Amino acid sequence: MENGLKLVKRVLRKKTGVEGPPHDPYGYDEMIVEKQYEGCAPIIVKWHSGLSDRIEIQAGGPVCKLDWTTFVHADEQFKNLTGMDCRDFEKAYERKKFDPIRKHPCGTKHIRWVDGYPGEYLRLCGKCGSILDSYVNMSEVE
Ligand SMILES: [Zn+2]
Repeated sequence: MENGLKLVKRVLRKKTGVEGPPHDPYGYDEMIVEKQYEGCAPIIVKWHSGLSDRIEIQAGGPVCKLDWTTFVHADEQFKNLTGMDCRDFEKAYERKKFDPIRKHPCGTKHIRWVDGYPGEYLRLCGKCGSILDSYVNMSEVE
């Protein structure tokens, strides 16, 4: 995987959504890894699993889709391309997600959850008022 090139950027994203016909929608999950080596165009690897399962690669050009038949194969593909399997991805993603909280300049002792709009919860710093995290509980909204 590592080839002497300097990694200048690595971004992990997750996306969930719905695909398929409106009368028969199907949920999907995506794990997205964006990497960029010094002097090179970014490489985006997307593992889409839902109604259709595939890995998409984009490296400064059109999107290339890899289909597969077994899940084991997908995990291997993804690891070859990104250096991470799905467990590594989850771990790294969770770590990154809490970075703004762990690295908040006021420290973590003023941070607490408060209510926002109905069903909305905000994690904010009581010292400077920064919102560091939020979530919406849809079952409380409807
Ligand atoms: Zn603060």
